[in-house]
Amino acid sequence: MEKDQYRPETNAVRIQTEKTWQMEHSTPLFLTSSFTYDSAEEMRATFADETDNNIYTRFSNPNVDEFVSKVCALEGAEAGYATASGMSAVFASFMALMNAGDHLVSASSIFGSTHTIITKFLPKWGIEYSYFDINKPETVEALIKPNTKMIFVETPSNPGLEIIDLRLLAEIADKHNIILNVDNCFATPVLQRPIELGAHIVTHSATKWMDGQGRVLGGVVVGRKDLIKEIHTFCRSTGPAMSPFNAWVLSKSLETLYIRMARHSESALALAKALENNPHISWVKYPMLESHPQHAIAKQQMSAGGGIVCFELKGGLQSGTRFLDSLKMLTLTANLGDSRSIASHPASTTHAKLTDAERAKVGITAGMIRISVGLENVQDILNDILQALENSK
Ligand SMILES: *Cc1c(COP(=O)(O)O)cnc(C)c1O
Repeated sequence: MEKDQYRPETNAVRIQTEKTWQMEHSTPLFLTSSFTYDSAEEMRATFADETDNNIYTRFSNPNVDEFVSKVCALEGAEAGYATASGMSAVFASFMALMNAGDHLVSASSIFGSTHTIITKFLPKWGIEYSYFDINKPETVEALIKPNTKMIFVETPSNPGLEIIDLRLLAEIADKHNIILNVDNCFATPVLQRPIELGAHIVTHSATKWMDGQGRVLGGVVVGRKDLIKEIHTFCRSTGPAMSPFNAWVLSKSLETLYIRMARHSESALALAKALENNPHISWVKYPMLESHPQHAIAKQQMSAGGGIVCFELKGGLQSGTRFLDSLKMLTLTANLGDSRSIASHPASTTHAKLTDAERAKVGITAGMIRISVGLENVQDILNDILQALENSK
C-alpha cells in the first residue's frame, strides 16, 4: 500500500490491500479471526514482532489496516488504530495516554458519552479533569498544572457547532509539553486536518460522516507514532477492535467521502442562508455564516462548513417537539452524518435531564434544532423544514 504518492482524494480511493491471486478489483472481506503460518519458525518470528504478518484480528486485520491506512493518509498522520465505535476510540486515547495522578483539560462542549467518561470514570481511576468554556480559549492556559497530560476538544462541537482555534491550542500544548487530542468527527479530514494545525492525536466516530449512510459503528485514533503505539498496546489487550466487516464498509465509504462532504457542505450552507431570516427562528448557526461567533477561525482552519446546521425556534421547548412532529421527510433518529437528512431536538431528547443553565454550558438552548443535512435535493430538505416551521408555532 503506497501512502503518500497521491493527493488525499486519490488516496481515499486508491489505497488498497494487496491483490490476492484472484486478481479482484474491490478488496475482499477478510472475515477471519486469526492467521496461519507455514512453519514454527515463521510463527515464532511473527510473535517476536520480526515480521509484519498478521496474528489475530484483535491486533490487526487486512480490512481494518486498509481503513486505518486511508484515515492516516487523509489526516496526515503517522499511525492509527481502528476501534469498534467512536467512544472506544476516545476512551482508548484517554486510558492509554494518561495515568493515575494525571490531569485532563477539556472543553465542556463535548459529546455526551465523552462527558460521562471524563466526569464519571476518569476520577475513579485517579485522573482529574478541568473543563473550560470553548468560547473562552484565553482561559485554557491558566488551567494547566504540573500534572496536566492532555488537552481535549471537539471542533466544531456536537451539537452546538462551537469552534476553537486549534493552532492556539497546539501552541499551548507544545509550550507545556502536553498532548493535544482533537475529536474531528464533525469536520472529517476532508474539511479540517488537525495534525497540520499542531494536534498530536485525532479521534473519530467513523459511524457518522465516514460511513455516511448510517450502517455501521466504528472509530479510529490517528496521530504521532509513539502515542499510537501506546494506544495499540492498550487496545490489543483490552479488545475494542473494529470488525473486519465494518472496516470493509467504512473503507468503501471513504472512497466517496470527498464528494459527499462537498455536497453536504454546499447544501448545508444553502439551507443555513435560506433559514437566516425566517420569522419563526431567532438564530441560525453554521460555521460558514458570517454571523457565527467564530466564523473567522472557521474560515482559517476549515475548508467548508460541514453538514450540520443548528437553529433556535422562537417558541422554545414546546415548539421543538411540535417541529419534530411536523416533519414529513426528515428523519427523527439519534444518528447524524447520513445521506438522509435528520432533525433532532437536544433539549427534549439527549439533553432532557439537564437544567437550562447546564444546557447553556454545553451550547444547547431550549428551542435548538440540529439538522444533519443529507444528500437529497436541498430544495426538498428546505421545503420540509419550512412547512414544519409553519406548523410548530
Ligand atoms: C457520535 C460521536 C461520538 C461517539 O461515536 P460512536 O461511534 O457513536 O461511539 C464521539 N464524538 C462525537 C463528536 C460524536 O458525534
